[in-house]
Amino acid sequence: MPYRAPISDYEFLFRHAVGFDEIAATEKFSSASEDVVGAILTEAGKLCEEVMAPLQRPGDLEPARLENGVMRTSPGFADGWKAIADGGWIGMSGDPEYGGMGLPMTLTTAVNEMMSAACLSLQLAPLMTQGQIEALEHHASDEIKALYLPKMMAGEWSGTMNLTEPQAGSDVGALTSKAVPNGDGTYAITGQKIYISWGDNDFAENICHLVLARLPDSVPGTKGISLFLVPKFLPDEAGNPGIANDLKVVSIEHKMGLHGSPTCVMQYDGAKGWLIGREHGGMAAMFTMMNNARLGVGGQGVGCAEGAYQHALAYALERKQGKTPSGTIIDHADVRRMLMSMRADTFAARAIMLANAAAIDMGNATGDPDWIARAALLTPISKAFGTETGMRVSETGVQVHGGMGFIEETGAAQYYRDVRVTAIYEGTNGIQAMDLVARKMMDGGDAASRLLDEIEDHAEQARATMPELAGPVWEATESLRETTEWMVAQSDLNARFAGAVPYLRAFARVLGAHYHLKAALAQPDGPRFKLARFYINALLPEFSGFLGQAQPGANDVFALSAEEFVA
Ligand SMILES: Cc1cc2nc3c(=O)[nH]c(=O)nc-3n(C[C@H](O)[C@H](O)[C@H](O)COP(=O)(O)OP(=O)(O)OC[C@H]3O[C@@H](n4cnc5c(N)ncnc54)[C@H](O)[C@@H]3O)c2cc1C
Repeated sequence: MPYRAPISDYEFLFRHAVGFDEIAATEKFSSASEDVVGAILTEAGKLCEEVMAPLQRPGDLEPARLENGVMRTSPGFADGWKAIADGGWIGMSGDPEYGGMGLPMTLTTAVNEMMSAACLSLQLAPLMTQGQIEALEHHASDEIKALYLPKMMAGEWSGTMNLTEPQAGSDVGALTSKAVPNGDGTYAITGQKIYISWGDNDFAENICHLVLARLPDSVPGTKGISLFLVPKFLPDEAGNPGIANDLKVVSIEHKMGLHGSPTCVMQYDGAKGWLIGREHGGMAAMFTMMNNARLGVGGQGVGCAEGAYQHALAYALERKQGKTPSGTIIDHADVRRMLMSMRADTFAARAIMLANAAAIDMGNATGDPDWIARAALLTPISKAFGTETGMRVSETGVQVHGGMGFIEETGAAQYYRDVRVTAIYEGTNGIQAMDLVARKMMDGGDAASRLLDEIEDHAEQARATMPELAGPVWEATESLRETTEWMVAQSDLNARFAGAVPYLRAFARVLGAHYHLKAALAQPDGPRFKLARFYINALLPEFSGFLGQAQPGANDVFALSAEEFVA
C-alpha cells in the first residue's frame, strides 16, 4: 500500500498551532519563508513516497547481514541512502559553514517523521548521523569540524552513537570502556559496545563512531565519562578514508522488528580516537546529541502511527463484511472508533513534537531561557508520547485488519514490530517520565506552570466561541496543575517516580487537547473541528484516570517484597 506524505497536516500545524511564523521572523531562520517550507515539504514527501516507502518491506524480509566481517545492507538501502544524501536531507538543520542548509529543526522534524513512516529502518541511519553532526558542531575542535562535518552532511560518511555496554544500559555511568592517551593528542579506545544502530554499512565511505569511554584518572559514574570520535577508517593527510582503525563489528542482533537496521555488537581494540569536548565532559556532549535524538525518536513513533493509520484506512475502505451503507467495514461504529482514535492521536502527537521542535528553534534563535526550558520540558513528553502513540496506533492498525493484521503480507504487523523499540531506545519511556518529574521540575515546576497558564488562557478565550470544547480543556489543565504541584511538593523522589509514567500520559493528553482546540478554532466548519471534538470527548477524559494513578506515591508499588513477588 503506497504511503502518502501528510504535507497538509504539517502546513496546517506550522501555521495554526506551533507558531512557525515567529520562527521565520527571527534573523537566524529568515530564509524559511512559506514558499521555501512548501517546496521542501513537497520534495521530501516525494522522496518518502517514491524512494523510501518501497524499501519498507524488503528491509523487513531481507535484514542486513554480516558476511565474513562485511556488512551487507538490505536490498535498495544503498540507493535509498544516496537519494537522502543527494537531496541534502542529512544536513538540513546543519551549519551552512560546513555545507548544511541551516533550516529550522521544526522543518527537519517534519521531514524525519515522513521518512520514519516510509521506512523506519533506513531512516535511523540519517537520524544517527544528524545527532552526531549536532554533537560535533557544539563540542568538536575547528579542525575536526572542518574535516568531518562536510562529509557527514553530504552523506559521504555516516555516524553512530556508542553508549550501551552489557552492564551499562539505562545506567550509562556503569560503562567501563577505556581511553588511554597516545601522547600525540589522540587516544586508544578499548571496550565492547552493544546494540549499536547502523554500526556499519556498505554505502558510506567511512563510519564515524561517537564512543563514550573512561580516561585512566576518571571518577566512577557519569562524571568520569569522556566522548571520543572513532572513525572506521583513519583519515589520511588529504582527509580521505585511509587505513582501517582497530575496531570491528562482532555480530548483529536478530530482532523483533526494525530488521533493515543492523544493530551491532562493536569491539574496540585500542582504536584511535579524538576527544570531543573536554575530558570527563562526555555526558554533557552526548546530551547535546541525545536531546534532539529523543525528539527524533518521538518522531519515529509518530511516523509509524501515520503509516499504520494509512494502511488501516485503505483496508477498511475495501474490506466487505456485514451489512453497512457502503458495504465495507468502514461503516461499522467500532471500526470508525478505531480509525478516529488513530487519526486524532497521531495529530496530537505530531503537534506536540512540532511544538517541541519550534521551542528548540526559538531557543536557538533568541537564546531566551524560557524557550530553552520549554524545549527541555517537552522533550521527554514528545519522546514517550510519540512512541506510545506509534505503538497504540499500530496495534489498533492490526486490529482494523482483523485476521489479515496478523498475516505479515499486509504489512500492518511490521509497523507494530518496528515501532516497539522506540519506547526502549534513547532512554526507555520510564526514564523519560522520571526525567519529566525530577530534572525538568528542578525549577520548582515553573516551566510546566508557564505552559499550563498558556493552555488555560487559550481555553479561556476559546470559551466564547467553542465552550463545549474549551471547557473540558480548561478543566483538565487545572487538574494537571494540581497534580504538578503535588509532584513538585514530594521530596521523596520515589513518590514522584512511582506515578511518573501516568503523569506524563496525562500531560500529553492535555497538550494534545490544546492543539486540537487550536485546530478546531482555525477550521471551525471542517474535518479538523470534528477530529478535535472526537479527541476532546473520547480521548482527553483519560487524563483523569492517569492523574489518579500518578498520585498514590511509592508505598503501594513497594508493598510486596521481592520474595513475595516470586512466592
Ligand atoms: C534495536 C536497538 C537499537 C539500539 N541502538 C543503540 C545505539 O545506537 N547506541 C546505543 O548506545 N544504544 C543503543 N540501544 C540500547 C538502548 O538505548 C538500551 O537498550 C536502553 O537504553 C535500555 O537499556 P537496557 O537495554 O540495558 O535496559 P535496562 O537498563 O536493563 O532496563 C530494563 C528495565 O528497567 C528499567 N530501568 C532501568 N533503570 C531504571 C531506573 N533507574 N529507574 C527506573 N527504571 C529503570 C528500564 O526502564 C527497563 O524497563 C539500542 C537498543 C536496541 C534494542
